Amino acid sequence: MARRTKIIATIGPASDDEATLRGLVRAGMDVARLGLAHNTIDEAAERMAAIRRIAALEGRYVGVLVDLPGPKIRAASFGEAPVAIAEDSVVDLRVGGTASDASTIEIDYEGLLADVEPGDRLSMGDGRVILEVAEAHGDRLAARVAHGGTLMGSPGLHIPSDRLSMRAPTPEDLEAVERFVELGVDLIAVSFVRSAEDLARVPVDPHPSGPIVVAKVETRAAIDDLPAIIEASGAVMVARGDLGSECSIEELPILQKEIIRQCIALGRPAITATQMLETMVSNPEPTRAEASDVANAVWDGSSAVMLSGETAVGIDPVNVVATMARIAERADEAFDHRGWTSELSELRMTDTDDPDTSITDAMTQATARAVDELGIGTILCISGSGFTVRSMARFRPSARILGLSADERTVRQLTLSWGTVPLHLPEEGDLDSRVSAALAVARDRGEVAAGELVGVLAGTDVRSRSTNALRIGRVPEA
Ligand code: PGA
Ligand code: MN
Repeated sequence: MARRTKIIATIGPASDDEATLRGLVRAGMDVARLGLAHNTIDEAAERMAAIRRIAALEGRYVGVLVDLPGPKIRAASFGEAPVAIAEDSVVDLRVGGTASDASTIEIDYEGLLADVEPGDRLSMGDGRVILEVAEAHGDRLAARVAHGGTLMGSPGLHIPSDRLSMRAPTPEDLEAVERFVELGVDLIAVSFVRSAEDLARVPVDPHPSGPIVVAKVETRAAIDDLPAIIEASGAVMVARGDLGSECSIEELPILQKEIIRQCIALGRPAITATQMLETMVSNPEPTRAEASDVANAVWDGSSAVMLSGETAVGIDPVNVVATMARIAERADEAFDHRGWTSELSELRMTDTDDPDTSITDAMTQATARAVDELGIGTILCISGSGFTVRSMARFRPSARILGLSADERTVRQLTLSWGTVPLHLPEEGDLDSRVSAALAVARDRGEVAAGELVGVLAGTDVRSRSTNALRIGRVPEA
């Protein structure tokens, strides 16, 4: 069986050369994530062009996700070697960008002294060091090290989001959006979203003419406004790094499950991110706990699992993607498709006021049942915006989903969709010609065999979003 859960790999200095990018695509990277925290817009744009070129050479669709840093606050560099921050010692936090050491940490945020108050807990390097602010002086904060650890490079400083006066998206984020929209990027992730209004301030056209907007859920406020944020987003990331600093750690697994459930109910792809195979930054094998985490993320219903430092700065990015692909594929094999389909029938939330949505909802529900009863192995979904494909994927059917669209960007956006093989359909005519073209493309690409019984989902009207035709029949001979 082929893997159904998608893999997002972050591209960084360890993986941005031609040979490694090729290796990542071959190992199973479905979406490449480009961060802007350590790069200029121009560098990221160059990487995007390289990925597009290599994907074309490999004959594969690879989505490009640009991740906006948002109000991400960093410490000035501790240097290349790990610096020990001793537990119970006192450190000074100052505004600055030159260098940090074990006693004075410089922070690249002007609002530090105004936003932070004595009593606040600050986390550094995704929880490696925890500071408790003891006193505020005119030009610095004195903090006790509540939990010691080692830091190197420029670690992030997490200030509780309800203290932060800086909002997402930042002016720098908006500048990047403008540039990447121009370049036709497939997906844009917004960090530290606190409300649906934050997403509304990202100036993009609805997809597929614009990118899919991914809301990173990593603040307390986002948890409190979750249904509205999911509704306003095109996809959601469970950003466990920062979310783990915003809520208590024992809440995190429960939030992960709950966020994914709500996303699927609304047909939004859900990404589980951060520290999934973290130890592979420096080791050739994951820990047993990490392997279990990836598999459990699959069984939670994740559309995609994400790699961060593992592929951006790790010792062997291609090996990391290959390892994740093996774990995810094996977990996919053990996935309870039936249980999920019946649970989703209860869970799904359809906007009954919107006829397009409710027709597609009913049609995909009927298709999930029909393929199960008939033992159909492949569903072809012909879609303009990808909406039908994502609606179908919600049911997590055991049948493979082929997502076909005449819109190239939709095809690249479908790289994120659970269980979906994205295919380009060179045909926009009436229903009959689109169905024949889809069957021919799938057969010629070896995705279905002549004579095989398949389901084809499509809309009779290309202009409408609604999918109102299900055809069940055999794939014709070439
Ligand atoms: P980041 O987001 O890697 O941009 O911080 C992911 C997370 O917080 O988990
Ligand atoms: Mn984050």
